[in-house]
Amino acid sequence: MPDELFFDDPADLKRARDAVFAGTLDRIFDHHPHYRKVFAERGIERSDIRGIDDLAKLPITGKADYVGQPADFSLSLPASFDAEERVVWDVMYTTGSTGDPTPFTSTSYDFLNILAVNRNMLRLRGVTAEDTILNLFPLTRHPHGAFARAMNAAAAYNIPIIAAMPGAPSARHPGLGNRTDDVCALAARSGATILWGVPSYMRKMLGRAEELGLSMPSVRLVFVTGEGFGEEARQDLVDRLKRLGAADPKISVSYGATEMQGGMVECVPGAGYHNPAPLQFCFEAVDPETHALVADGEEGLILLTHLDRRGTTMLRYALGDTARLTRAKCPHCGALTERLVSVPTRRDGFVKIRGMLVNPQALADVLAADSGIADFQAIVDKEDENDQFSMDRLRIRLSSSGEAIHVLGLRVAEKVKATTGVMPVVELAAADDAAFTGRGWKAKPIVDLRKKPE
Ligand SMILES: [Zn+2]
Repeated sequence: MPDELFFDDPADLKRARDAVFAGTLDRIFDHHPHYRKVFAERGIERSDIRGIDDLAKLPITGKADYVGQPADFSLSLPASFDAEERVVWDVMYTTGSTGDPTPFTSTSYDFLNILAVNRNMLRLRGVTAEDTILNLFPLTRHPHGAFARAMNAAAAYNIPIIAAMPGAPSARHPGLGNRTDDVCALAARSGATILWGVPSYMRKMLGRAEELGLSMPSVRLVFVTGEGFGEEARQDLVDRLKRLGAADPKISVSYGATEMQGGMVECVPGAGYHNPAPLQFCFEAVDPETHALVADGEEGLILLTHLDRRGTTMLRYALGDTARLTRAKCPHCGALTERLVSVPTRRDGFVKIRGMLVNPQALADVLAADSGIADFQAIVDKEDENDQFSMDRLRIRLSSSGEAIHVLGLRVAEKVKATTGVMPVVELAAADDAAFTGRGWKAKPIVDLRKKPE
């Protein structure tokens, strides 16, 4: 079997994909609670779906289907199947429709696949055996792919990784987690060649390192996830690293999703986001309204199909973005796999704040449910309004029903953090505040004041 990323002939790749997908389809038709119901309603039989070319016969799956009944998306395999396929290895969480994040379950079988996905991501990004990674993702209340999978990626590639643990994950363990100055010092003495994290935090950290007179000459690669990351932002990070002594730093952007437990990555800047595991994932682009397939290179709603999963398993799942998709061999690295050749645009109304996907309605619901709040408005902007690359900031402006504002503020901050994963700034609104008088903003649960990248 050739390397899954570098098949020469598309027909050979398709045959290999169909072979692995057949095993998953057999299990879905017999043991997937959600799809068994959908297929029964629509009269779809196993023999109708011979491989990925028949995917278009299936309805698309929306986020609402999944977050409404997440347990129904895990295969419920009987004991006759190998334990590897049934044992839950870990559960990660993604943004839900209510205050509760939605579980994404992986079995031992899936975890090995996740290691392979993350190994492929590092290969595509040009990581070598000499590299060392600095993991700059914070710990989150609900397990989230970013922190954990960076650690797993290094394991799969047999290279060293240092977790910087920015932030203060728990008041019970004041020794866990690091302030920005300590993260800077760690980054400087670690000798890391790769920085991996949320771009706005990375930028803040590098700015502080410069102020502290530190240097990071060994850094050669920076891994960031999308988060509205444009060309200007890329150049800004490069310039900062050069001032810290890095000779020729490259920024590698990925388009990540909980449903992949990894991300689609660039092999070189601007080459598009590669599906890192064509034998595990199949991507399609469809018209957002009619759901008909669009031609290669045309903007469409991006769908993900799991070709080889046993825990949470999805067919034609709409990730919530539109982008242009191509199946052409990458002219830079030669990989034969799907690539997104435009920056994905969110279509589901969710917003990304500091790398966390936030459901505006869930945030509005949790605020509306607090009887201490008379009125509120959530706003996303930047810590420095004159600097479009500075850290995202979530502000909750509210008026109190009578409760002391410091008591209310602490409680609201905790609730918002638990719901969204983002710690907000809580502000008391002035009585004549336009946001509170029904003019303009109020119709939206979250007002996003951030400038969109070019
Ligand atoms: Zn490539």
